[in-house]
Parts: sequence; C-alpha cells; structure tokens
Amino acid sequence: MLGVDDIEIISKFVLKFGKDKQMPRPLRSKLCSLCIQPGAIFYRVKYLEDGDWVFVCPQCWEKVSQNNPFYVYGGTWKAKKK
Ligand SMILES: [Zn+2]
Repeated sequence: MLGVDDIEIISKFVLKFGKDKQMPRPLRSKLCSLCIQPGAIFYRVKYLEDGDWVFVCPQCWEKVSQNNPFYVYGGTWKAKKK
C-alpha cells in the first residue's frame, strides 16, 4: 500500500511532468543558407544546376532568383506565430 509520503511524491512528479509538457516551445526559426541570418520568412529554392533545396531570406532570394536559369521555387516557409 502506498503511504501518504509516496502519494505526495508521485503527485509532485506528475505536477512537474505536467508543467514540463506545457512549456512553450521555442519559436521555430531558420537561418538563411546564404547570409546565415535568422528570419521569419524564407523561400525554398534551388539556385544551382545540381544544387539541393535551400532556404534563403527574401533579400538573398532576390539575388539568386534574378537572371538565374537554374532557379526553382519550392515554396515559402513562415515561422508560426502564436
Ligand atoms: Zn539571406
């Protein structure tokens, strides 16, 4: 049988566990693949002939998308705000 002390320990553990579960998640953030700056909006692009998909900030996106025959647009990534 559980003693009063045991129950208290368990309820403290449950409280702590519950608190940890409710911790707000850190804001999702990315870094631009070109200028390595964090931001809230990125464009998923390919800008090299056999390049991989990378995320670039709007500033770098303008640079890599203009006059680039290898530029491919793959979507927009936005940080989720609450
Ligand atoms: Zn950038």
